[in-house]
Amino acid sequence: MNKVDYGREAFQKVLNLMEEHHRWFRDSIPLIASENIPSPAVREALISDFGNRYAEGWPGERLYAGCRYIDQVELLAIELGKKVYDAEFVDVRPISGVMANISAYIVFANPGDLMVALAIPHGGHISHGKLKWGGTAGVVRNLDVERYEFDEENFMIDIDGTRKRLEKLMREEGKKPRLFMLGASVFLFPHPVKEVAELAAEYDAKVVYDAAHVAGLIAGKVFQDPLREGADAVTLSTHKTLAGPQHGMILSWNKYSEDFKRVIFPGLHSNHHLHAVAGVAIALAEALAFYEEYARQIVKNAKALAESLHEKGIEVLYEHRGYTESHTLVADVSRFMDGMKAEKKLEEANIILNRNLIPKDYRLKTDYRTPSGIRMGTQEVTRLGMREEEMKEIAEFIKLVLVDGREPREVAARVREFRKQFQHVQYAFSSQTEAYQYIKIR
Ligand SMILES: *Cc1c(COP(=O)(O)O)cnc(C)c1O
Repeated sequence: MNKVDYGREAFQKVLNLMEEHHRWFRDSIPLIASENIPSPAVREALISDFGNRYAEGWPGERLYAGCRYIDQVELLAIELGKKVYDAEFVDVRPISGVMANISAYIVFANPGDLMVALAIPHGGHISHGKLKWGGTAGVVRNLDVERYEFDEENFMIDIDGTRKRLEKLMREEGKKPRLFMLGASVFLFPHPVKEVAELAAEYDAKVVYDAAHVAGLIAGKVFQDPLREGADAVTLSTHKTLAGPQHGMILSWNKYSEDFKRVIFPGLHSNHHLHAVAGVAIALAEALAFYEEYARQIVKNAKALAESLHEKGIEVLYEHRGYTESHTLVADVSRFMDGMKAEKKLEEANIILNRNLIPKDYRLKTDYRTPSGIRMGTQEVTRLGMREEEMKEIAEFIKLVLVDGREPREVAARVREFRKQFQHVQYAFSSQTEAYQYIKIR
């Protein structure tokens, strides 16, 4: 085949595959806890010309021309961020949550310093991880990572145990923590920010709260308020519960503003995805208007889904704590199959969620590829207008596959039918285009 024909065929193939993806998601139940569907206005920002431009530096002090409107949008994003989170300092330039974390590692610690973070089976994120696991903190900043003691029974950081662990490290190895990371990828209950900040103060260390998962819940005032509880900075992804475009953000105090600004540019970024910055501004405006209601419904739905699954024989963890105070719930499915098989079968049934390590895997040393659990989040189905009644139906679909062993494709047909009435994003100023509609401009 000649180059032009090969190119034309590949061109068409890519476009077709993207359209098929959109159709699949329109017909599916999206339960991945770290994702969401942005509003049509955010999607419009993402295809704007902002995404083809550069604006290095701070608004008003750019190293590029052509930023007349871009600067106004970025300043608005910063103002909106300050309002939504009651923050003194906001930087909307980190292009992802991991980049926001790296900037905090650079501002608050030096290579070789000791950082305390959650282990992955306790909900920790790989960007808080040590070199041995290929974790970002180790790989990029050469931080020495020590884990928190963790109370598995209650899915809580064990403050006293952690204090003792750190005293022992100090005594035996002369190591002293410089940074305490909080926040998680399995984030069921608020973290003890105040207690960790008190512990950090004993070592003159800093506290960073990674709100990637719960940024929308904090905006809606239903989870916790890490800045008031003692965090020196909050890092976040803007596309999980916040439902903006894929991007990152920093919230902090004026005393750290110059350090963050310098690290984020020129330290870590050149272009900072200006189309996404516009999308973040839109998402924050929508958060101001709608997220108290949205966040409340997300948590109600998470509790309802957990209860329903539990009634149907699927072991959702932490019943005695009300299962969850966030968008996320985790279930142990090892009675039926491993988490990998559960994920695959449910995916065939158009129910999209992911397998996950759960605390018992830490003791059992389960292979991370076939963990005992699955993780679900209700933020995206809530955005589509679903409420407690629909959570019962979702639980029934999951039960049909995992407990009753029904043919996934047969369940997929029922899921497709169920999804028909939920095709528009709620909690947005304008929602004329269907949530998963494929937009052609070519
Ligand atoms: C998702 C997640 C991140 C990474 O965010 P990106 O925006 O994908 O870089 C960081 N920290 C935690 C706790 C997360 O769950």
